Amino acid sequence: MNAPQGAPDIKALLGKVPTGLLIGGEWVESASGDTFEVLNPATEEVLATLASADADDALRALSAAADVQDEWARTAPRERAEILRAGFEAIVEHRDEFATLMTLEMGKPLAESDAEVTYGAEYLRWFSEETVRHYGRVSSTPEGTLRMITRYKPVGPCLLITPWNFPLSMATRKIAPALAAGCTMVVKPAKLTPLTTQYFAKIMLEAGLPAGVLNVVSGKSASAISEPIMADSRLRKMSFTGSTAVGRVLLESAAQNILRTSMELGGNAPLIVCEDANIEEAVAGAVAAKMRNGGQACTSANRIFVHEEVAQEFTEKFVAEIAAFTVGNGLDEGVRMGPLIEPAAVEKMEEFVRDATRKGAHVATGGARIEGKGYFFAPTVLTGVTPQMRVFQEEIFGPIAPVLTYRSEEEVLRLANTTEYGLASYVFTENIDRLWRMADGLEFGMMGFNAGVISNAAAPFGGVKQSGLGREGSAEGINEYTSVQYLGLRDPYSQRR
Ligand code: NAP
Repeated sequence: MNAPQGAPDIKALLGKVPTGLLIGGEWVESASGDTFEVLNPATEEVLATLASADADDALRALSAAADVQDEWARTAPRERAEILRAGFEAIVEHRDEFATLMTLEMGKPLAESDAEVTYGAEYLRWFSEETVRHYGRVSSTPEGTLRMITRYKPVGPCLLITPWNFPLSMATRKIAPALAAGCTMVVKPAKLTPLTTQYFAKIMLEAGLPAGVLNVVSGKSASAISEPIMADSRLRKMSFTGSTAVGRVLLESAAQNILRTSMELGGNAPLIVCEDANIEEAVAGAVAAKMRNGGQACTSANRIFVHEEVAQEFTEKFVAEIAAFTVGNGLDEGVRMGPLIEPAAVEKMEEFVRDATRKGAHVATGGARIEGKGYFFAPTVLTGVTPQMRVFQEEIFGPIAPVLTYRSEEEVLRLANTTEYGLASYVFTENIDRLWRMADGLEFGMMGFNAGVISNAAAPFGGVKQSGLGREGSAEGINEYTSVQYLGLRDPYSQRR
């Protein structure tokens, strides 16, 4: 493993990442002594061996969070804000280490990891600012009988479950608003990429976060950790980012304990290039929306609809851009796309291409795995895609761009909405009336207009339909971690009215 010039020494960096479970402010071994390995998907080398939590460890972590819940909820908002701000500054200070860790365990190119450091750190800064401006409401009953105070209280100990594709930002998008609201938590990172969260937790302790507020338990079996915690009445909230299939299972468990839930689930984003689009911008937007993170993003453009009048021009330029991608180890200079996360992901891409070509699609570029060490698949464009193909119906979560042509706005809206998902969508047009018609017609929680990347800490991120419940980031994000309390105070003049 060679580090690029200027990047941190990899062995020294890995040596700084705690390998234990974080429970009550201490890094500890699992009670069973069990461990698991974390691999580099570009080289298949072992990066670290971590303690693997079981049910007992999970409950110890919940106890640690529950024990300090009241104390943390009572800290002054300014105190919580300053810890969040210190965390933001510490991440920025350790930017190169976080970026390198993410590239090592997840595979994305260093430039993308660096962009994720900016994005992920911003949740801490944004919510440090929200902490001291989290307002309730004062009003009167319509009859004038009561003065009403509507206030937000921390919901209580939370379980936060994160995916592997954005190791830093998926964690900070949950942890920062939970801390801001005054909640304590147990975090369960994805077993494929736990190192970034481990290092982040260490940094937060150094930034002044009191023991027990943030606990981290990674492990081989996700359900062995989540099930006992979710069955425990001390837990009051579960926030999950991951696949819709796992989200459904967790919602069923949450129902038994009537838990508050936030669910950020899968997507099948349409990207629509209208006949009046600026084609250069649409190509750049489509490349970013599709190939960022190797297509392993819930917001990834899964189906690219191009109006027949501009289909040839768009497709030629889009294919040329994708065909020019350099694929390789994300630590190497000039690499535009890294490996997929695991061998099963490569096999899934092969199945998608086989299914599509059998049903009549054409491979315009790519279409096959890249042989050798690591889990690489060539960036791929499929043309002549139809709704009967799996790439249209399922979340691809990899570097395959299916292109379809359409004739009318009505047709494209119907096709775009033909999915159980409703997370991100994208429209490229220069026509403002069309933009509003699209916004009205598209059944998606988020829409990018002439923009291929829309995630931001200040934006309400989330989906409709089977893409989830709730919103992360923005002013909305903090209230996912609060419960409303209403106080009714007798109005002093009510007897006289
Ligand atoms: P996943 O398989 O659903 O896993 C997500 C997390 O859930 C991981 O921490 C995983 O742990 C855990 N998990 C898996 N099975 C579980 C169970 N039975 N009980 C409790 N926890 C369980 O998803 P993924 O493959 O990591 O991520 C890809 C998916 O996430 C895609 O569908 C993508 O669209 C979605 N995603 C959505 C958003 C959004 O904001 N809407 C953002 C990013 C990703 P292990 O790692 O230990 O299995």
